[in-house]
Amino acid sequence: MAFLTDLFQDLRIGKNSIHGDQTKSRSFQNESHLDVLAEKIDQLYIMNMASLELLNDLGVSRSQIEAKIEEIDLRDGKADGKISPQTECTDCGHKVAKRRTHCFYCGSKVNQFGFKAI
Ligand SMILES: [Zn+2]
Repeated sequence: MAFLTDLFQDLRIGKNSIHGDQTKSRSFQNESHLDVLAEKIDQLYIMNMASLELLNDLGVSRSQIEAKIEEIDLRDGKADGKISPQTECTDCGHKVAKRRTHCFYCGSKVNQFGFKAI
């Protein structure tokens, strides 16, 4: 009986060890993702500062910028400070991922952020 108990304990220890290794691996991956996100936030911050300073130089007021931010936020129908991950194709009505430039279903150009193509 003791043999079976030891065998069962060994199996549980081995299983927990594997689970611990997987958790360590996931933690490391998440840490890497956080580093990438932090770099992107820094880049976006610099781009925003450059844009705001140039707009200020051109005479655009803070209230004009805030009104534009509010307008852009509402383009997905919600004033929540976020951009919906999907938009609706104006030609066929299917949901299209915002990262797409064209509708997957009908091929129409999708201009998800309302910016003019440069
Ligand atoms: Zn479409």
